[in-house]
Amino acid sequence: MEPNYAIGIDLGGTFVKAALVSDSGEIIFSNKLPIGPQASKNTILNTIENIIQMAISKATKNQIIVEGIGMGTPGIVQDGVILGGSENLDGWENIDLSSYYKKIFNLPVLVDNDANLMGLGEFYYGAAKGCTDVVFLTIGTGIGGAVIVNSKLYGGYENRGAELGHVVVEHKGPDCNCGGKGCLELYASTTALIKDYSKRSGKNIEDLNGYFIIKKFHENEINAVNCLQEHTDYLGHGIASFINTFAPQKVVIGGGISDAGQFYIDMISKSAFRYMMPSCGHNTEVVGAQLGNNAGSLGAAALIFKAQNK
Ligand SMILES: [Zn+2]
Repeated sequence: MEPNYAIGIDLGGTFVKAALVSDSGEIIFSNKLPIGPQASKNTILNTIENIIQMAISKATKNQIIVEGIGMGTPGIVQDGVILGGSENLDGWENIDLSSYYKKIFNLPVLVDNDANLMGLGEFYYGAAKGCTDVVFLTIGTGIGGAVIVNSKLYGGYENRGAELGHVVVEHKGPDCNCGGKGCLELYASTTALIKDYSKRSGKNIEDLNGYFIIKKFHENEINAVNCLQEHTDYLGHGIASFINTFAPQKVVIGGGISDAGQFYIDMISKSAFRYMMPSCGHNTEVVGAQLGNNAGSLGAAALIFKAQNK
């Protein structure tokens, strides 16, 4: 059978990425364009249009027929409309992205939350291939997540849920910008890890990043060891709750810091298994993501292939 092709778009706070993808997950072409820090809604819309156009030109040149465009964006997405909740993009709310680009390109356009699509990418082509029940976490500035139940993304009613970074791990903890207190991402994001290390070591936050702390951990520096133990302990608490709720086959850990190495995944796994209910996690494995930066665009393209197979 001839492969099908789709374009996967992954919109982030600083870049928009596009990939021309086959249904077996092969990336034929990929590209990214910067999004300025103060970019207006129209600038973002135009940048996405430009990058889609580049991918379509590439497809045409290679005599590839594009079946549709899948798109991941930060925030809450319902039926192709970005409702809001994408804090890093100005004015990025109440836009019917699906209709907007369908009109321009005359192709089906399906949209979902970016973390959901990273999870979907890992489910179709990466670390959770062959599973039916999966929890995906992306650890970065914040913590995003996706839940796949019975081979389908689970987002709750109107796709408003699965905000895994905002489960409460310290009910008397500090305010979170979600409106809650003591959320997981306040303790276990890379941002939190850096803050904690800065506090313990007296070094400036601006001079620090995740890689530096991992390096110091390997050198057995006491602050780095303590920080990483605390970080993975908090992650384990959060993940134990997800295991107790969803009994996933795999918990997939993504985000830049997940590239730190197997030791990092092992620390998280050990902590999660310490706190979960053993009967709930009987079939659960904690694993690192496999698709890196491509997870979002692959998952976005998978939205199109998935829709075709219905
Ligand atoms: Zn929160």
